[in-house]
Amino acid sequence: MPTIDCCSQPGLMPIESAREKLLQAMNPIEGTEILPLAQANGRVLAEDVISTVNLPPCDNSAMDGYALRYEDLASGLPLELIGKSFAGAPFDGVVNPGTCVRIMTGAAVPAGADTVVMQENVDAQGESIRISINCEVRSGDHIRRCGEDVAEGSILLKAGERISVPHIALLAAAGVGIVTVVRKPVIALFSTGDELRQPGEALGKGDIYDSNRIALLAALAQMDLEVLDLGILPDNKQAITDALQRAAQEADAIITSGGVSVGEADYTREVLEELGEIGFWKVAMKPGKPFAFGFLQGTPFFGLPGNPVSALVTFYQLAVPALSVMKGDHWSGPKTLQAKLLKPLKKKPGRTDFQRGVYHSDENGVLVVEPVGTQGSHILTGLAAANCFIVLARESGSVEAGEQVVIEPLGVPLG
Ligand code: AMP
Ligand code: MG
Repeated sequence: MPTIDCCSQPGLMPIESAREKLLQAMNPIEGTEILPLAQANGRVLAEDVISTVNLPPCDNSAMDGYALRYEDLASGLPLELIGKSFAGAPFDGVVNPGTCVRIMTGAAVPAGADTVVMQENVDAQGESIRISINCEVRSGDHIRRCGEDVAEGSILLKAGERISVPHIALLAAAGVGIVTVVRKPVIALFSTGDELRQPGEALGKGDIYDSNRIALLAALAQMDLEVLDLGILPDNKQAITDALQRAAQEADAIITSGGVSVGEADYTREVLEELGEIGFWKVAMKPGKPFAFGFLQGTPFFGLPGNPVSALVTFYQLAVPALSVMKGDHWSGPKTLQAKLLKPLKKKPGRTDFQRGVYHSDENGVLVVEPVGTQGSHILTGLAAANCFIVLARESGSVEAGEQVVIEPLGVPLG
């Protein structure tokens, strides 16, 4: 089991170091499943797929026209029409000198023929045809060659690739009906807090709705992860202990929100300290900061802060990269763009800021970004209105309007 650094030393851990530690500690999950190809979109391939066929499987016509022998065209004499070749119903005979075959798109090119002339360039008269004088024909025209797309025995897709819709088209074309993919990791999820209610329930005095778990359920589904939803837990040590023990047994990773700072009701932290090998990190990020990571009986654990904006920002910035590795992906860094800041932003050096922003392309095609609303870690309207994070580096101070800033678009695949 990896050693977890506990950030008990003064100072905050830079987000880059936090991510690196997380990525180093994570391993792709083991276990595969076999799926019908059409259900495998977005899944990670567990083994190479080798083509058992050539694509196209034989020389076939790219046009509706006539299959003939190129050398016959030199004489300018009419060619005798001896049959037809349809897609799915090839012509069985041989195109001998002086003959030709009517051919449709996708139909096998008959033996003896080496060129297809499109029908628009042919003058057909009963049982013979003539090629229009003005048309230029080259040997081999309009023939799709056997194996020119895929050669039999070649690798169609490599183990570790995430299957996309175009991949599915390729595999299906090669006759692949089922694929072996990495199974979906199961993520146990719960919220903690006596004040939390399920949306739809009545709120008592001091209660709030559990927004974190609902948002995380959606985000985990978007990442194609299976969720073991353990609901809302009260601030009760025994309940949290039971839930964590079950989660460690049944899930591949555990995500919780709330209870990881140093308040009196922060039992998640207390239980984890007793049961697991957990580091409580103060990450130099805003919003965010309190974040727990570690292993509980071998199962990775991500303790997100309770504040709703902090919970989602730490999820995106820290949990998503780690979960990606677990799914079998290679996380290649945040997906960033550069944009011109339209309004100044205040900042003190010390923490990486993830301000909520709206970016667009202006009338000159320049990418511009504007911060939205108030930036408190409980202000969900700002996050909901945003289409990107404006990322201000840890050492950066305030930024003036007109400066270039780094943005991370939201709503792109989560990894
Ligand atoms: P905690 O980290 O438990 O001290 O919570 C910090 C703040 O986030 C408090 O104002 C909580 O009421 C709030 N909070 C905790 N969990 C959630 C949740 N699941 N949904 C919405 N707000 C929450
Ligand atoms: Mg709490």
